[in-house]
Amino acid sequence: MLAKEKQYDLVIIGSGLSGQAAAAEAASKGLKTLVIEKGRTTGGSGNYVEGVFAIGSKMQKNQGIEISGVDLLHDEQQFSHFEADTQIWKDYINESANNVEWLEKLGVKFKGVATLGAGLNTWHLFEGLGNHAIHDAMQPYSKKRGVEFITSSAVTELLQDQKRKITGVFVEDFASKKIQKIEAKAVILATGGYLNNREMLTKYFNSNSNRIVPMNSGKSDGTGLRLAWEAGAKKFGLGMAMMFGGQIKEDSVPAFKFWKTDIGIASCEMAPLWVNEVGNRFVDESVFRIWAHAGNAIIRQEKVYAILDQATINEFAENKLPRSLKPLSERTRLDQLKGMIKEAEANNLSFLTKADTVGDLAKKLDLPELEATIKRYNELVASGEDKDFEKPANYLYSVKKGPFYAFELGVGAYCTMGGLRVNRKNEVLNDQGRKIDNLYAIGSDASAVLVGDTYGVNVPGSEAGYCIYSGRVAVKEIVSQK
Ligand SMILES: Cc1cc2nc3c(=O)[nH]c(=O)nc-3n(C[C@H](O)[C@H](O)[C@H](O)COP(=O)(O)OP(=O)(O)OC[C@H]3O[C@@H](n4cnc5c(N)ncnc54)[C@H](O)[C@@H]3O)c2cc1C
Repeated sequence: MLAKEKQYDLVIIGSGLSGQAAAAEAASKGLKTLVIEKGRTTGGSGNYVEGVFAIGSKMQKNQGIEISGVDLLHDEQQFSHFEADTQIWKDYINESANNVEWLEKLGVKFKGVATLGAGLNTWHLFEGLGNHAIHDAMQPYSKKRGVEFITSSAVTELLQDQKRKITGVFVEDFASKKIQKIEAKAVILATGGYLNNREMLTKYFNSNSNRIVPMNSGKSDGTGLRLAWEAGAKKFGLGMAMMFGGQIKEDSVPAFKFWKTDIGIASCEMAPLWVNEVGNRFVDESVFRIWAHAGNAIIRQEKVYAILDQATINEFAENKLPRSLKPLSERTRLDQLKGMIKEAEANNLSFLTKADTVGDLAKKLDLPELEATIKRYNELVASGEDKDFEKPANYLYSVKKGPFYAFELGVGAYCTMGGLRVNRKNEVLNDQGRKIDNLYAIGSDASAVLVGDTYGVNVPGSEAGYCIYSGRVAVKEIVSQK
C-alpha cells in the first residue's frame, strides 16, 4: 500500500501494541502521522497480549489491591541486579495508572486485575486480548483523527542529513514493489524486536538459541534494530528474550499448535519429572510458577524431556491437576490430553517418544542416566519429600506404570527485549550516549531499559504496559520539540 503524502510530522514503523499507543497519542495531539506496517494486517504480536502492568489503578482499588511503588521499584532493582534503569522504571510506575485510564477512555475494556503464579497483582487483563485493545479502540480512535495506516509495506532505510539527524524513511510497497521516499520530522521505531530472526538469535542470544521456540506473530525480524544501528545507534542489551518456560519442541508443525494446549500444560505447567540430555534432573520442576526462571533453567541444558507414565496422564486427564489453571482458565482437568497424544503418535511427531519400559525409553533417546534418575525419583515420591530438588509434594507423581512417554521441550519465548539504548524520552542513543535527533524507539525495540538478563515476570504485564507507556512518552516528547 502506498502512502498518500510525501511529508508527515511523524512516521511510526510498526503497528503492534507500542506503535498503536504512539499513534493514538499522536492522534490526540493532532500530529500528521503515518503508521507503516509490513504485515498484511495490523497489530503484530500485540494482538495476543493478555494484559498490561499498572499500580494504583481504579480497578486495583476496587479489588482491594494495594502495592507500593517504592517496594516495587526496589524489587525490580534487585531482580535485575540494577541493570534495569531506575529512573525509567520510576517514571513508568508513576504513569502506569494514568495509562490504564487513558486506554479505558479510548474504549479498551478490561476483565480485571490478576497475578501470574508467584507475581504481584499488577496484570490488567484486556477483554479479548490485545486484539480488542488495538482493533476496537486504539486504531479506530487514531483513524478517526486522521492517522494514516499502510500495510504490506516495510521501511527499508532511514533517511539522515549530514549531521545524522533523521529526516524520513524509504518504504517499499510489497504489491507494486515501488519504493517511496517519505519525509518526516520524527520517526518512531516500534518493530517488535528480533525473535523471528534466527541469524540474529544465534549471534546475540545469551544461551542455546537453537532451542528457542518463538510464540509470537512471526513478524519480528529485527529490521527496526538494524535500521537504527545503521543510523549510528548503540547495540545495547542484546541477548535477552522473554522466555516463558518449557514449550513442546516440534519442528514439523507451527509452534502455536501446542501453546497452552493440554499436552503443553501437562508437560510444563504441572511440573512432572524433567530430565536433560543425559537423563539427569536439573531443577525443581515447579519453577514454572515463575516462568521466566523456568526458561533460564531449561535453556541451559542441551536437551530437555518431560517424562510421564500412563498413570499420571490418566490422573491429569480424568481426575485432578496438581495446580489450578486460574486466572487464565477455569478447567480442572486436561480432557484433551489423551487425544492429543494419540494424534501426535499417529502423525509420528518427533517431540513424542513412547516405550513400554523405562529401559527402552532411555535407549530410544540415548539418555544413559534415565533409569537411575527414575528409580531415585520414585523413591522420593514414595517418601513424599523431594530431598534432591525440594519440589513441593503436590507435584510428586511416580513414574512406574507403562507405557512411558517423553515429550521434548524447547523454551517458549514471547519477544526479545532490547537492542537499542533509549533515554527517559525514548530517544535512541549512540555509543557516546548522545541522542540521534528525531529517532525514537518504543516497545520491544527499547525495553532493555526494563530488565537485566531475565524478564521480571514477578511484575506481570510490565512489557505490554511499557509498550503503552513508551509510545505515549515518545510522542509527548516529539510534541514538546515542535
Ligand atoms: C502471545 C503473547 C502474549 C503476550 N502477553 C503479554 C502480556 O500479557 N503482558 C506483557 O507484558 N507482555 C506480553 N507479551 C509481550 C509483549 O508485550 C508483546 O510482544 C508486544 O506485542 C510488543 O509490542 P511491540 O509493539 O514492541 O511489537 P509488536 O506488537 O510485535 O509489533 C511490531 C510490529 O512491527 C511490524 N514491523 C516489523 N518490522 C517492520 C518494518 N521494517 N516495517 C514496517 N513494519 C514492521 C511487525 O510486523 C509488527 O506488526 C506477549 C507476547 C506474545 C507474543
